[in-house]
Amino acid sequence: MINLLYLDNSATTPIHPDVKDAMLPYLLEEFGNPSSKYYSYAVNSKDAVLTARQQLAELLGCKKDEVIFTSGSTESNNFILKGITNQRKQDGKHIITTSVEHPSVLEVCKYLEQIGYELTILPVDEFGRVSIGDFSEAIRSDTILVSIQWGNNELGTLQPMTDIATICLEKGIFLHSDATQVIGKIELNLEDFPGLSAISISSHKYFGPKGIGAVFLRQDQYNMFPEITPLLHGGGQENGLRSGTLAVHNIVGMGKASEIAHLNLTKNILKLTKLENYLKEILSNQFGSKIKFNNSINQKIPGILSVQFIGINNEILVKQLAPIMAVSTGSACSSSKPSHVLAAIGLELNEIRQTIRFSLSPYIQQMELDIFKSL
Ligand code: PMP
Repeated sequence: MINLLYLDNSATTPIHPDVKDAMLPYLLEEFGNPSSKYYSYAVNSKDAVLTARQQLAELLGCKKDEVIFTSGSTESNNFILKGITNQRKQDGKHIITTSVEHPSVLEVCKYLEQIGYELTILPVDEFGRVSIGDFSEAIRSDTILVSIQWGNNELGTLQPMTDIATICLEKGIFLHSDATQVIGKIELNLEDFPGLSAISISSHKYFGPKGIGAVFLRQDQYNMFPEITPLLHGGGQENGLRSGTLAVHNIVGMGKASEIAHLNLTKNILKLTKLENYLKEILSNQFGSKIKFNNSINQKIPGILSVQFIGINNEILVKQLAPIMAVSTGSACSSSKPSHVLAAIGLELNEIRQTIRFSLSPYIQQMELDIFKSL
C-alpha cells in the first residue's frame, strides 16, 4: 500500500491511538447511560463524562461546568447564534460577524437576517483580518451579538481576539468565537478573555472522534449561565441546554484528545511552525515565481499554508496529487463553490481557482515533506 501523505488536517484529523484506546471500553462493555443511576454501568459512564469535561476545561482554562457537549462546531455555532438572539430580541436586532466565517456561522446569520435581525458583515484585509476600527464603528446601541472566528480554516489568520473581547466587555455585548481551528494549535486561556462569552469547539480537528464537540459558555460570578434558548429540547441533559443521551464513547475520546493536546501544546506549536517553514522553503525552491502565498507571516495558526500555483487549476492539481498526497482547494465544507474566504481577501476568481490549502499535523516527519522535491 502506498503511504498517502495526509496534508488536509484542517478538514479533519485521524484519531490519536491513545484516543481510540480510551474510547473502546465505552463502545463495548461500559455502555451505560450516564443519566441512569446506582448500577455500575451508569456510574462508570457518568464518571467518564466528568473526567472528559475536566480534561477539556483544563485545555481551555475554564470551569468544567462551563463545557456543554454538542455534536460538533456546526451545532455549537447554531446553538449560540440562534439561542442568544432569540433571548435578546427585545434588547435589539443587530448582529456583527465577518466575511470569512465558516458557513455554519455565516449561513445562520443570513437565516437570522431573513427572520428580522439586522446583520453587519465586517470586511477583512488582504490576509483575512478585521480591523478594530471597523469593528468599533459597526457597534450600535442595539447590537446584541458579535460572532467572530478565532482563526480561519483556509488561511490560518488569527483575529485580534484580545481587543475584540475587551471592547465587548466594555460595551456589555455577548461575544461568541468559532474557535474550531485554533484548539491545540495556539496558546489560549479563557481566563485571559473575560469579554468572551462563548466559543465553539470540534473534537475531530485535534485528533479526537467526529460527531462530538462542545460549547464553552461563560457563567457569571454566581455560576449562572446567560439566558439562552436551547437548540434541542428534551430530557434536560447538559444543564437543560442540550438534550439527548450523551455519546459517552465520543465524549471520552474528546476528553482524551484534549488532554493530549494540552500536554503537547508547546511542542506541537513548535513542530507545526518548523514544518510550515520547511514546506514554504521547499515550495519556494521548487516552484519559485510559479507560486504565491496567500497567508500572512504572523498572527496565524501554525501549519496552514494557502498557496497559488499560477496558471494551474486547483481541482485538477488536487486530483493529480491524490494518489500520493491528500490536500484540498480550501474548506471541505464548501468545496464545490469558489472560496468566499479567498474572495473576501480580494483574490480574483482565477486566483481562487489556482489556490491549494496545505494543513499540516505535528505527527508528520519533516522528511515526509521532501516528496515535494520530486514533483
Ligand atoms: N467552523 C470552522 C472554522 C471549521 O473549520 C469547521 C469544520 N470545517 C466547522 C466550524 C464545522 O465543524 P464540525 O465539522 O464539527 O461541524
